[in-house]
Amino acid sequence: MQDLQMLCDGRWVNAQNGEWLETFNPYTGAAWARVPRAGVEDVDRAVQAARRAYVGPAWRNLTPTARGALLRRLGDLVARDADELAELETRDNGKLISEMRAQMRYMPQWYYYFGGLADKVEGRVIPIDKPDCFNFTWDEPLGVVAAITPWNSPLLLATWKLAPALAAGNTVVWKPSEHSTASALAFGRLFEEAGFPPGVVNIVSGLGSDIGEALVTHPDVAKVAFTGGDQTGQHVYEMAARGIKPVTLELGGKSANIICADADLDNAVKGAVSGIFAATGQTCIAGSRALVHRDIHDSFVDKLVAFARTARMGDPALPETQIGPVTTQAQLKKILDYIDIARAGGARCVLGGTPGSRPECGRGWFVEPTIFCDVRPDMRIAQEEVFGPVLCVIPFDNDDEAVRIANDTRYGLAAGLWTRDMGRALNLSRRLEAGTVWVNTYRATSFLSPFGGYKRSGIGRESGLSAIREYLQEKSVWISTGGDVPNPFVMR
Ligand code: NAD
Repeated sequence: MQDLQMLCDGRWVNAQNGEWLETFNPYTGAAWARVPRAGVEDVDRAVQAARRAYVGPAWRNLTPTARGALLRRLGDLVARDADELAELETRDNGKLISEMRAQMRYMPQWYYYFGGLADKVEGRVIPIDKPDCFNFTWDEPLGVVAAITPWNSPLLLATWKLAPALAAGNTVVWKPSEHSTASALAFGRLFEEAGFPPGVVNIVSGLGSDIGEALVTHPDVAKVAFTGGDQTGQHVYEMAARGIKPVTLELGGKSANIICADADLDNAVKGAVSGIFAATGQTCIAGSRALVHRDIHDSFVDKLVAFARTARMGDPALPETQIGPVTTQAQLKKILDYIDIARAGGARCVLGGTPGSRPECGRGWFVEPTIFCDVRPDMRIAQEEVFGPVLCVIPFDNDDEAVRIANDTRYGLAAGLWTRDMGRALNLSRRLEAGTVWVNTYRATSFLSPFGGYKRSGIGRESGLSAIREYLQEKSVWISTGGDVPNPFVMR
C-alpha cells in the first residue's frame, strides 16, 4: 500500500485534516494506494497558491513564447513516461493497457499544439468611428481555472483543459476523480520537471461531495472547466452561476450509431462494437444505441453478436485483453440494475446480460458484453446513460425516422453513420443534433478538431483552435490621440 500526496504551491502535501481515501485496482478488487482526502481548507490553500502564481512575476512575466516552450517540454516528458503513466492508469481505473498506452503516446500532441498556439493569440485593431481615438483589443487569461475531471481517461481529459488553460496564461487547481487520482499525482511531477513555476498547477485529491462546492464557489476561482456526468455538471453550473463564472461542461451522452441499409455491414459491425465495447462502454461517446435499418436488422444483429462473442475479457494489464473490468463496484451495480430495467421494460437480451464470471475475470468487477434487441426509443435503457458495455438495438424504416430517433434524447454528444451514399451522409450529418458526427468510422478524436456536446451533453469546446478561447477574455483599450480633453458639459 502506497501513500500518495497532493501538489500545492510546488510542494507535496497531505490533507490538513490527516484523512485518506483508498484507491482500488478494479481487476483485483483490492486497495493498492491511499490518496489524501482533501477538505475545504486544502482547496483554499491550493486556490490561494494558484492566485499568487497568477499575479506573481515568475508566470506573469513569461512571454507567451516561453510559456509555449514549457508546454512543449511537458509534452516531451509525457512522451518519455507514456508507458509508465499508462500502467498506472490501468492499475487505478481498469482500462485496457493497450488503450491507455495508445492514449498516453498520443497525449503529448495536445501540449505541442497548444504550446505552439500560446504566442499566436493576437488582439485586433478596431477601425473606430470616433475622431482622435485609437482602439485595440487584448486577449487575456481569466485567472485561476478549476479543472474537475472524471475517472475514465483521467489524464487525457485533464490535458484537454490544462493545455489550453496554461497556453492562455491561466493557473490551475485540478481536482481529479477520487477513483483515478494516482496517475494525476504522478503527472504532477512532470509539471515541476518541465519548469513550471510553483503554484501554476496545483492538484487537490478527494471527494466532490467534500470539496466540489468550495472549489467551484471560491471567490478566487475565475472559471470552471468540468467533465463528468450531466447531473453533477448541472450542479456545478448552478454553483458557478452564483459567482457569474464562465464554465466549460463536457457531460454524458447516449449516442446513436446509425446503420443504413446500404452500409458495408462488416465495417458497421466493427464500428458498433468499438463504439460500445471498447473501453467497456465507459466513455462519454459510447455508441450505446445502434439504430439499424429494418431490411438489414436481422443479418446485422447476427453478425454483431457473433463478432462481440469473440472479445477476450480479462486482466486489463495484458495487451491481448479486449474487454476489461468496470472501474468501481458502484458502477458494476448500476450497470446490472440497468440490465434488469431493460429486461423489465420488455427488451430482449441476445448477448450477455450477466456479471462476468469467466475464469479470466478473476475477482474483478466485470459485466459480459450485453446486447438488447426489441428496444423502443422511449425505454429507459434507450434514454439514460449506462456507462457500461450495454448496447440497445433499435430498428428504423427510413432516414427521417432514423434522425428522429437519434435526436430524441436529452443528450447530443456524438453520432455515427454507416452508409456508402455520401449525399445521404452529408444530409444526415447536418440533421443530427450532436457535437461530433462520424461517418463510416467511430471514436476518432484529435487535438486539431473541436469536441463538445449539444443539448445536455455540454457547453463549450475542447481541442482545436477555438478551445483556447474558452480560457481567454477580451479587453478593449481606448487611447485618445487628440490634444485637449473636451469640456464634459458640452455634448458633442
Ligand atoms: P461524476 O460526475 O460523478 O464526477 C466527475 C467529477 O466531478 C469527479 O472529479 C467528481 O469528484 C466531481 N464531483 C462530484 N460531485 C461534485 C460536486 N458536487 N461539485 C464538484 N465536483 C464534483 O462523473 P464520473 O462518474 O467520474 O464520470 C463519468 C461521467 O463523465 C459520464 O457521465 C460520462 O459521460 C462523463 N464524461 C464526459 C466526457 C465528455 O467529454 N463529454 C468525457 C468523459 C466522461
